[in-house]
Amino acid sequence: MLRLKLLGQVLPHYLMNLEEVLVMRVKNYMEDVIDRMFPEVIKRYPEVCKCQRCASDIKAIALNHLPPKYVATEAGEVYTKVNELSSQFEADAITALVIAIKKVIERPRH
Ligand SMILES: [Zn+2]
Repeated sequence: MLRLKLLGQVLPHYLMNLEEVLVMRVKNYMEDVIDRMFPEVIKRYPEVCKCQRCASDIKAIALNHLPPKYVATEAGEVYTKVNELSSQFEADAITALVIAIKKVIERPRH
């Protein structure tokens, strides 16, 4: 990482994003699972409000019902890790989304 940082300082401006992309990140992969399952699950509930606020509320409520799965990863690893984890947690994510959608249908925050 130190080497990358030093390298970043001499890289031309248009390559600076490269360094940013390669930095290790800690991320809750349940967020990816929820984002991926959301469009599929929401289709079953045509009565739910489709605004951005309600969509964000649903995702937040669902994530609060799920144990977070933190993963340290580099950009190149993201896709495989998401796949590995998501197959394991998809069912939980769907259940949490359904609970969240029902809550927002009952009590939308607007
Ligand atoms: Zn709404």
